[in-house]
Amino acid sequence: MATHSWNLSVEVRAKLIQCAFEAKKGSYSPYSHFPVGAALLAPDGRVIGGANVDCEPYGGTICAERTAIVKAVSEGTRSFVGLAVVTCVPPSHNDLICSFPEPHRPMPRLARPYVWTVIMVLITPHRNVPASISPCGICRQVLREFCPPDMPVLLVPGDYPQDTKDKENAAGKRELSEGGVREYTLGELIPDGFGPEQLAQLGAAR
Ligand SMILES: [Zn+2]
Repeated sequence: MATHSWNLSVEVRAKLIQCAFEAKKGSYSPYSHFPVGAALLAPDGRVIGGANVDCEPYGGTICAERTAIVKAVSEGTRSFVGLAVVTCVPPSHNDLICSFPEPHRPMPRLARPYVWTVIMVLITPHRNVPASISPCGICRQVLREFCPPDMPVLLVPGDYPQDTKDKENAAGKRELSEGGVREYTLGELIPDGFGPEQLAQLGAAR
């Protein structure tokens, strides 16, 4: 089983996850309705939390991971040894829509709104089903600036702890560790990424 949190004790891992849940409470997400919490672990054991902050012009929205890292860096902490991210996300709408039975003949135009209403009713009860998400591309790059490639990243389901130990997730792409957490290293999330050491090499060559 692929796991990378060997350098996090059980207690520290639990603390990091708990702090991510606590941080999520600070989410400001009136537009996305997508609360996210992140917690960064510093080498001295301190944990810095952050939540996502929506902005009506969507380009101004800040993810939870970047909130946490900007908080930490601006207050003097510039190295990290672990990250946990948690949210509650809906299941794949595509799966539900694709499972809707195909009509045997073309659907009358007037019936289409009714059918879509039925589909939305089927989907709605599942909108708060918890799952785990991973950092977006911009956050991965910002994390790359301050975090080592072997830093564990814990992607925590909203209903943690799940009773799914050692089982594959729904997508079958990643085995789940304790509590239903997907575990990666930062290097796995941004392989062969551009980082500050490349610029340092350029400076050394001058
Ligand atoms: Zn992000």
